[in-house]
Formats: sequence, C-alpha cells, structure tokens
Amino acid sequence: METFLSQNGLSLVENENKFRSIITNKKIDIGKTIIISHPLISFPILTYNKIRCDQCLKKKENNLQTCSKCQRVYYCDRSCQKSSWISHHKLLCPLYKKSKNNMDEEMLKRVTILIEKFFNNNNNNNNENYLFETFLKLMTHRTEQSINNLKSFEKISNNTYENLNFNKISKDDLINYLCVFYCNNFNLHDNQLFVYGEGTFPIGSLFNHSCRPNAIVMYDGAVQIIKCIEVINVGEEINISYIDVALDRVTRKKMLQEKYFFECQCSRCSVQERYSGIFSKIDQLIEEKDQVITKKDFNTSLENWVSSESKLEQNESKFSKVTKLILSNLLSHIKNNTTDNDYINSLSEIISILFQNYSKTNLFYISSFSFTTKLFYDKIDLQQWYQSTILGNYILSIYLIIYPRYHPMIGLHLFTLGKCYWNDITNGLESVKESINILECAQKVLNITHNEGAENVDIINQ
Ligand SMILES: [Zn+2]
Ligand SMILES: [Zn+2]
Ligand SMILES: [Zn+2]
Repeated sequence: METFLSQNGLSLVENENKFRSIITNKKIDIGKTIIISHPLISFPILTYNKIRCDQCLKKKENNLQTCSKCQRVYYCDRSCQKSSWISHHKLLCPLYKKSKNNMDEEMLKRVTILIEKFFNNNNNNNNENYLFETFLKLMTHRTEQSINNLKSFEKISNNTYENLNFNKISKDDLINYLCVFYCNNFNLHDNQLFVYGEGTFPIGSLFNHSCRPNAIVMYDGAVQIIKCIEVINVGEEINISYIDVALDRVTRKKMLQEKYFFECQCSRCSVQERYSGIFSKIDQLIEEKDQVITKKDFNTSLENWVSSESKLEQNESKFSKVTKLILSNLLSHIKNNTTDNDYINSLSEIISILFQNYSKTNLFYISSFSFTTKLFYDKIDLQQWYQSTILGNYILSIYLIIYPRYHPMIGLHLFTLGKCYWNDITNGLESVKESINILECAQKVLNITHNEGAENVDIINQ
C-alpha cells in the first residue's frame, strides 16, 4: 500500500488525533487527479443493475447480457462476465435461487470470497494484493457500533457462513468486515452526482474527512478518482468530504458521529475556531435563528419574491440584494485564475458583510433548501425561464458560500442556470450575454471537477 501511495506522490503519516492521514509529497494544482484506485468489490444498486454492468459498472442501456443461469446479474460483455465468474460469481450464482440478498450481504459474500482466496494465496490478481492488506487494516469501530447494527451484522454473518464454506475466515471476522463496510464504503455517483452503486475502496478509505475539503471524489464505472480542487502544498493533508457539506453543523456532527464515529475538528467545525474562523462563520449564517420564522413563512416569502409582478419590487427584496452582493464578488473568482488566497479573502469579506446586515434574516434557511431547489426545477418544467434565472441565481449565491468554488455542485448548477438564461428571452440580448458568462463559468468548474473518466468528460463536451 505504501508503494502504491508513493507512486502517486502520497504518504500515510501517523497523526495523534486522527490515527493516520494522507499527505502529499509534491505540490498539487487545482484540477489535477490525485489518485485513481480500484475497488475490492463494487456493484450497481438495484435500480441501476439493468443499465450498468455488474463487473465494470459502465453504463450500457438496453444491451446488457444477463447470466443465463441465475438471471440476476447483467454484464456489458463476455469478458466482464468471465472476470466476475472467476472472481466470485461461480460461487454465488447457485445461491441466488435460494434467497434475496440485501446490499450488505451481497457485499460481504463477494468481499469474503476474495479475501479467502487472498489468504490461500491463489488470488489471480497478485498486483492488487495491497488492496486486501489495506482493507484488513481499516478500523472496525466495533465497540462503538449500535446494538441494532451488531444484531443485524450477526444475522448477515450467519447467513453468509451457512451458504459459503470458508476455511481461513471465522464468523467473527465477517462481523468485522461488516463493521468496516459500515464506516468505509462509498456510494458511486455519476457525472450528475446520482448514486448508481456501492463499493469498498480501501485506498479511498485512507483519506480523512473535512467539511471544507481540498479534494473531491468522482467515479468512472467502478474506478474511483480523487481530484484536487484547491492548491495543496508539500506536506499538507488531503481531505475529502464523507457527507454533503451543505448540511448545518449540528446535522453534520450527528452524522459523522453516528456513521463514522468521530468528532470533526476541521477548519469549519473546530471548537477553537467556532464563529471566529472564516469557515466556521458559514455555519453561523446557515443556522436557524432564534427569531420566530417558520419554514412555511420562509417558503411563502421566497415564492412571493420570485413571482412578484414588478421588477422593482423584486429588486427591493433582501433575497435580490444578497444574491447580487455575492455573485458580483465571487463569480469572478470562478472565471479568473485568482489564487486560493485572493478567493478566500473575498469570501471572508462577503461573509462579514452578510453578518453585519443580514445575520438575523434567515436568508440562508438551509432546512428549506430542498423546497428552494424544487421550486427552481418546477420553474424549469413550467418553462418560466425568467423566474428560473432569479431562483437559480439565489441558489448559486448560497452554493458559493457553502461549497468550495470548484465543487461539482457549483459546476452542475452553473450549467443548468446557463441553459435557463439561454431560454429566457424576456431580457433579450442581456440574457444571451449572461448565458454565455454563466456557461463559461460552468465550463471552468467542470474542467476541474469532471476532466477525468470517460463519462465525466462527456458533460464538458456537451
Ligand atoms: Zn462490464
Ligand atoms: Zn449467475
Ligand atoms: Zn467538519
């Protein structure tokens, strides 16, 4: 594993608080691929199993061939079917008739078959042995798992043990593997960030979490790609995010504790920095304020703003003012090659201004955000393009506060917003100009986030 990491210019170092971290041995620039790694096992989730190959997870609508014996798994071609057969399917195919597996059981069976082969030293893929070594060193957090989890793990482990014969692996080991899956497995997502599969990626699991990450995780079929979104200097730690960083502090804390068993001490969550550091201030902005404003009140005022008859009335709204303030200051940092420092300084300034003027307004009412995005897509469906641009800009301004500037969420949103402007003819030439501006920004972000992997590159060429 150390060799594989060092080939990629990375090192694993011991760290008092976090057990271990990945640091870089060379400066990494924005948009560069940090590491590409393979899973021990990955497979499509149920809704995708007929359009994505069970072995390579590449998309191939309508043309997948099913295994004629079990008719439960689908492959893109003979070679994938053969690889799967040799890897695990030969043992699992006859079992599908008996029972229906849940995801955990399916993952456990496949991974354990491979680990048994690894222990028996007859694993065909010897150059991937580091994946097994790394997996077996991952933390189980077994003593911290809930009683319910452990009960279900025991049940799955019993089922698996009854169905398959293992010589070198005990029932207890299986419970450990399930514990590792629980806090390490990844959801594979497509270029639009829709989840299509689940995978055990031992190398990816070595990267620590941050709520303000300097790297993102992308996929191409079954392959995991970690990309740099902020300049990372020699000796600095590389962080990805395990959860959506748009969540508020309390929710993030709860999720990270329950699923990953740690208390986040990143630049946004650190107790020392609480509301003094720039990133921790973001959380104060998006947290619900004491003053009484219900979700319903907020949603109504948002709807009124978007659909107000006169443009003047619209411009007077706090929503408009905040949107304009943020976009006029931060969009240039996407388009131009400003340094991370310049960008953070601008962000810092904007956040201070928002604090002084709007800190009691709940303008960033994050628990209403699903309503806001739904309203945006409703306007698109209704082809109310002008209104969709108003809402799209407001959403963009929130994204620019909570996500790092070169985040896939920002790139994808810019792309959608650019198309809304293109369709909006009420403002004539102005909207054509704005459309080009927004689409150029989208291209800049997507060239950083989506420039590796065939399916991802597709979106840039659109
Ligand atoms: Zn395939
Ligand atoms: Zn089969
Ligand atoms: Zn954090």
